[in-house]
Amino acid sequence: MNIIHVLDENTANKIAAGEVVERPSSIVKELVENSIDAQSLHIEVEIADGGISFIRITDDGSGMSPADAKLAILRHATSKISLAEDLSTIHSLGFRGEALPSIAAVSRFSLTTRQHDNESLATYVEVAGGITTDIREAGGNVGTTIVVKDLFFNTPARKKFLKTPATEGSHINDILVKLALSYPNIAFKLINNTRLVLSTPGNDQISDTLTNLYGQKVAPDILPISYSNIIDSISISGYLGKPTLLKSSRQWQTIIVNSRVINSRAISKALDNAYHSLLPKSGYPLAVLNITVNTETIDVNVHPQKSEIKFSDEQKVFRAVYKAVTQVLSAAHTPGQLAASAELKNITNHSYTPSSRDSYAGQPSLYTGSPTHATSSWQEQPLPLTTARIAMQQEEVFWEAPLVTENTNCDQLEPQFSLQPLGQVENCYIISRGPDGLYIIDQHAAHERILYDRMSQQTDRIAAQQLLVPVFMDCDAAEITIITDYHDTFYNLGFSLDLVGPSTMRISELPSDIPLAEAENSIRQILEFIQNMHNPTPQELRHNCLQMTACKAAIKAGDPLNMRQMQALISELCNTNLPYTCPHGRPAMIRFSPHDLDKMFKRTGF
Ligand code: ADP
Ligand code: MG
Repeated sequence: MNIIHVLDENTANKIAAGEVVERPSSIVKELVENSIDAQSLHIEVEIADGGISFIRITDDGSGMSPADAKLAILRHATSKISLAEDLSTIHSLGFRGEALPSIAAVSRFSLTTRQHDNESLATYVEVAGGITTDIREAGGNVGTTIVVKDLFFNTPARKKFLKTPATEGSHINDILVKLALSYPNIAFKLINNTRLVLSTPGNDQISDTLTNLYGQKVAPDILPISYSNIIDSISISGYLGKPTLLKSSRQWQTIIVNSRVINSRAISKALDNAYHSLLPKSGYPLAVLNITVNTETIDVNVHPQKSEIKFSDEQKVFRAVYKAVTQVLSAAHTPGQLAASAELKNITNHSYTPSSRDSYAGQPSLYTGSPTHATSSWQEQPLPLTTARIAMQQEEVFWEAPLVTENTNCDQLEPQFSLQPLGQVENCYIISRGPDGLYIIDQHAAHERILYDRMSQQTDRIAAQQLLVPVFMDCDAAEITIITDYHDTFYNLGFSLDLVGPSTMRISELPSDIPLAEAENSIRQILEFIQNMHNPTPQELRHNCLQMTACKAAIKAGDPLNMRQMQALISELCNTNLPYTCPHGRPAMIRFSPHDLDKMFKRTGF
C-alpha cells in the first residue's frame, strides 16, 4: 500500500499560509502589493483589533473579470508570470500566486471585484477556511475590495503566536508607511479602529509623502539623495535625515530596490557605516533609499514573503549606497544644513549622548548627568551650539581626505587660540578661558584628535613597537583568510602578523601607541571592520585603524590631569586641523561665546 500521497489543495494552502501569512501585517502587505500591481491610484486599508478580527483593503485598480476572480483564489494562480524565466525581468511585486489562497485558507475571506471596462456587475467570491462558500454577481465599485475576518480561526495554535492588537496594528502601520514611501504616486489611507491614522497625498513627491507620514517637523531635517553609477547600472534616489534626527530603531529606514520594499543587512550596514563618523552611535538615521538596479542582477524569489532579495553582486550595491550617502552628508556643509537649527534656549535641556561603547561612556555628562542610558536623548534634539555645528561641517573635510593634513578653511578653526586651562571637572572635562569665550574640552576626545592627526601625518608605515615576547592569537578560518589577504595592509598599519599554526597567529609588532593588553582586541576590531565593510579601500581601512588606535591610546575620561598636562593637551589640540571634533565625529571642544553666555544668563534680548 502506498504510504505517500499528494496533499489535498486545502491542506497544501494551509501549509503555504504558514510561510506567507505570519501575522496580520503580512496579509496587508500581500493585498496592498496586489492593489499596486493592479495599477491602483487610491488604496484604503481599514483594520480592527490589530487586523486580527478585521482587515479590509479597497482599491481602484484594474479589477478582475468574473472568470479571473474565481481563479485568483487557486494556488499558483497568477496573471504576472507564465514561465520561471519571466522572473529575471519582473516588474510586478507579486509572482508566486500564493497570497490569496493562503490568506483564504486561514481566515473568513471575501473578494468583490469589477473591471473598468466591464458594464456588468461585480463578482463576489467568499471562502471560509479554504472552502469556497459563495460565488455570485454583486453590486460593487470598479476595482477590488478584499475583506479578511477572524484570522487563524481554524488554526488556533497559530493564533496564539499573535501579539496584542496594538502591536499587530503597529506592524501594519510600519509596512504601510514603507509601501507608501515606495509608491508616492498612490494615495494611501489606513483606518485603525475607525480612526484615520495614515494618509498620503499620492502626488508623486516623496518629500510630501514623508512629511505626511512622519510629520511636518521632519521637513527641515531631510536631505535629498541622488546618485547614479552608469557602469554598474545603479541609481539611488530618496531622502536622508540629518544626523540630528535619530530613532532608536531602524523603523525610519525604508529600503526599496526596483520598487520593492526589502530588508537588507548589507544596505543597512552601508548606511550605518556612512553615518558612522558623523554621529555618536546611539541611534539610526531616517532614510528612504530608492535603489534601481538591472532586474537581471537580482533574484526576487528567495523569501516566501518577498521581503529579501539576492543581489548577484552585493558588494557593488553596498559600495554605491555607502558612496551615495557619504556624498550627501559631506555636501551638506552650511551650518543650517547639516545640523538642525540651534536654539539657545534649548541648551539647558539638551543632552549630548556619547556612544556607550567608547571609553567616554559612563562618565557624567556636563549637561544631563546621565549619559549611559539616555540612548535616545540625542534623538530629535538640535545641536546646542554654533561651534558644535561648525565641528560637524568640518567632518566633511575629514571625510573627503581623511589622510590629508592641510589646514581647513574655516575661520573659527584657525589656531589663533591660546587657551588657558582653569580646571578639570569630573576628571573628564577641561574648562578653559580663551580670548573669545569659554571653552569646554573633552579630554579623551581631544587626545584622540591629537593622536589621530599625528599618526595620519605618517605617510608610510605607522610607527611600530617590537614585542619582546610575541602574542599568540587563535583565529578561525575566515579570520585567517582576511589576515592573509590583508597581510601587507596590516603591516603598513604597524602590525606584524604571521601564521604559525593552522589556527594560530603570532603578533610580533604592534603600532607604538597601542597598549600590549589591547593587541588581540585591536586586530579583532580591524577584522570585524573588514568583514562589515565588504572590502574597504586602503584609505578607509587606514582611517578606521587610526581612529581605533587613537581611541585606545588616548587618556581616558576619569584620568586626573594637572595644570601642566591640561595646558599641553590644549595647546596640542589647538594645533590640530579639526580641534572641534574627535575622529569619531563627537565634539572634542565646545565654545560658549560671550554672547552665548549673555543669552544664557538672559542679559540680552533674544
Ligand atoms: P500573485 O500576486 O503572486 O500573482 P496572488 O495570490 O496575490 O498572486 O493573486 C492572484 C492573482 O489575482 C493576481 O495575479 C492578480 O491577477 C489577481 N489579483 C489579486 N488581487 C488583485 C487586485 N487587488 N486587483 C486586481 N487583480 C488582483
Ligand atoms: Mg500577490
